[in-house]
Amino acid sequence: MTRCKNCLIPDTVPGVTLAADGVCNFCHQEAEQREVVVAAEETARQEREADLERTLADCRGQAEYDCVVPLSGGKDSIYLLCTGSSRTTGSRCWRSRSMPTFHPWPGTASAAR
Ligand SMILES: [Zn+2]
Repeated sequence: MTRCKNCLIPDTVPGVTLAADGVCNFCHQEAEQREVVVAAEETARQEREADLERTLADCRGQAEYDCVVPLSGGKDSIYLLCTGSSRTTGSRCWRSRSMPTFHPWPGTASAAR
């Protein structure tokens, strides 16, 4: 009996075949599917980023700030602030919530009220 070096499933289980690299057919199938999903997610991410850039381009430079970023303090809103500010788009973002431990990203301002 030989086992998959990845998931340890034995080759005695019906339907399991081990390739020359010692990895079973299920692990190879999962890896192929993961690549497809990762590629699709990257395409979707690029589309969303392009949509954000188009939206910001429409209003950039028309006022003191280009957008308002509501902050909850979680990683999603922090990432949005970073993406919306100088790192990617160069937009001037106004964060809508004061966070004592957060230092403003370059090009941003705080609405500390
Ligand atoms: Zn396996």
